[in-house]
Amino acid sequence: MAKKQGTTGRIGVTTENIFPVIKKFLYSDHEIFLRELVANAVDATQKMKALASSGDFKGELGDLSVRIELDEKKKTLKIIDRGIGMTGEEVDKYINQIAFSSAGEFLEKYKDQIGNIIGHFGLGFYSAFMVAEKVTVETLSWQDGAKAVKWSCDGSPEYEMSDCDKEDRGTVITLYIDKEEEEFAKKERIESLLGKYCKFMPVPVVFGKEQEWKDGKYVDTDKDNVINKVEPLWMKKPADLKEEDYMNFYRALYPMGEDPLFYIHLNVDYPFHLTGILYFPKIKDRMDITRNKIQLYCNQMFVTDSVDNIVPDFLTLLHGVIDSPDIPLNVSRSYLQSDANVKKISGYITRKVADRLEEIFKNERKSLEEKWDNLKLFIEYGMLSDEKFCERAMKFCLLKNTDGKYFSIDEYRKAVETEQTDKDKKLVLLYATDVEAQYPYIESARNKGYDVLLMDCQLDSHFVNLLEMKIENTRCARVDSDSIDNLIPKEEKIRPELADDRKKDLDLMFKAVLPSENNYTVVADNLGENAAPILITQSEFMRRYREMSSLGGGMNFYGEMPASYTITVNMQNPLVVKIMEAEAAAVKPEEPVADAPADATEEQKKTVREAKDAAADEHKKEIETFAQDNEILKQITDLALLANGMLKGKALSEFISRSGKVVADAYLK
Ligand code: ADP
Repeated sequence: MAKKQGTTGRIGVTTENIFPVIKKFLYSDHEIFLRELVANAVDATQKMKALASSGDFKGELGDLSVRIELDEKKKTLKIIDRGIGMTGEEVDKYINQIAFSSAGEFLEKYKDQIGNIIGHFGLGFYSAFMVAEKVTVETLSWQDGAKAVKWSCDGSPEYEMSDCDKEDRGTVITLYIDKEEEEFAKKERIESLLGKYCKFMPVPVVFGKEQEWKDGKYVDTDKDNVINKVEPLWMKKPADLKEEDYMNFYRALYPMGEDPLFYIHLNVDYPFHLTGILYFPKIKDRMDITRNKIQLYCNQMFVTDSVDNIVPDFLTLLHGVIDSPDIPLNVSRSYLQSDANVKKISGYITRKVADRLEEIFKNERKSLEEKWDNLKLFIEYGMLSDEKFCERAMKFCLLKNTDGKYFSIDEYRKAVETEQTDKDKKLVLLYATDVEAQYPYIESARNKGYDVLLMDCQLDSHFVNLLEMKIENTRCARVDSDSIDNLIPKEEKIRPELADDRKKDLDLMFKAVLPSENNYTVVADNLGENAAPILITQSEFMRRYREMSSLGGGMNFYGEMPASYTITVNMQNPLVVKIMEAEAAAVKPEEPVADAPADATEEQKKTVREAKDAAADEHKKEIETFAQDNEILKQITDLALLANGMLKGKALSEFISRSGKVVADAYLK
């Protein structure tokens, strides 16, 4: 039922006011009209090529470029193709009936969540009305004897159709850009939209001419400006590609980016279609993390660069391209997460990423080690956030020790097992977070024949927890969290026997010479005659929770507590022995005050309490005076503080002048 020349009709929609609906609901995404129209033009062109190769079409194909022409003055935008075109009947069927009714259905179905819709596929041609007050279609079908037709519509449900004198095959869509949408009548805007959406379309898309710099300004050359010059590399066979091709493609995608570490070429046909290339970028610290670098395409047409419901969170750190016609695009994001295809795709990508890393681990170990420091954050994040990935990564995840050597988890376990298993048969993995600051502790571990891992990445406090969970019978301890003998206890230790009042004296004595801003627990221990007199450590548990909460682990209670340290006094060290003797000689024991009798009055009890407090106070003062006067006590305490980088400001300057004096005294006397 071809329309007679000059006929008018009503477009077959149920919703009378479909145009205002299209404009209003799709407001935020008006720009996609161009993608939709170019995609239709590319489709029609591809179909033309198919007809030629099947032999159904025997004529000249001619230049098959899709051309975009903008007249900034007249505010018209033309999308011109030399594809299959449409007969009058087809215009009636596809434009007047089907497309429109499906647009109506689409809006009806999703009107509640329309704001969330991405893609808006299926609206196709009619998205032109988001930006145009009038649209015309002039088209000539490829079929023998076809007549050219012109369709036009000014945005009401009325349209006009007539014959026209278009001579060459294909379709010209002309948009008369709406006053409110004038941005789409600007060259820069159209150019950037084409760059965004049409960069990889399979037919050349031409917009204007290439320009050159001449006589102080840019002028058009006679060469077509092809938008999609870069080949969509992911469509090619991996076997035909070289490393350099992948790198060049990366540079074309991210001209400002640093070269990636590795890449994966994805290619699957069943049970869904997906191709793509993913790149592992260099990530040195959390500040470096940029998400939304993966671009999602549907048959080479750009759809979105926020893929966060399609791939697991840690994979959004990767860069590259995914192309799949099987990801449903015209639905809300929350729906996407539960979509079975999306789940399969997400599982597939995770598996492929793990496969590739395992392959690199097996075949390119050296290169993996060289790049590990920049890859580590990504892998640790993946392991911490994705159970399946973690299982796989236990094989290829590397650990780096403080000598800069790399081990797989399994290799490392085997390497340190003999030396670093404690008396309870637990394997203890020692680690440092800062080689410089923790140097003395690393040294003392090495002297014992132990190895120390380097865990200096922001996720490491979480990662250490993960290692403890994943490697059976294993404990991790930072080298400075206790004396080395206590970190890996080999036999039951004989603790020094110290009477309660001596313990109290020891506590008072050291607290008198330690900086007041921290909390301390003073403990007496036997570390050996030759070991340092004092060791300052921070409990593994407390430190780890403080760190994790500062990373945003939610355990803020620990984060806000003052730092607390353990002061281990080595009772076997000769200096300590001598100081304790001197203290016993100089400070008399606390004056005992008899308890109040059971039948004492409140008044009497109070007097006794006050006497006790006074005696304790008196004793404390005497110890403090002793401590302040004992330069060696101060000296050994300051040395321990210095070893931890805790001696600063006035205390440091006092230490320096005291050291000078101590040295002079020792040498000159
Ligand atoms: P969709 O592309 O999703 O099918 P559209 O509304 O974009 O929906 O287009 C409807 C139909 O109109 C297309 O399937 C196609 O048959 C026809 N059509 C649209 N644009 C063109 C064109 N440039 N050349 C030939 N046919 C076209």
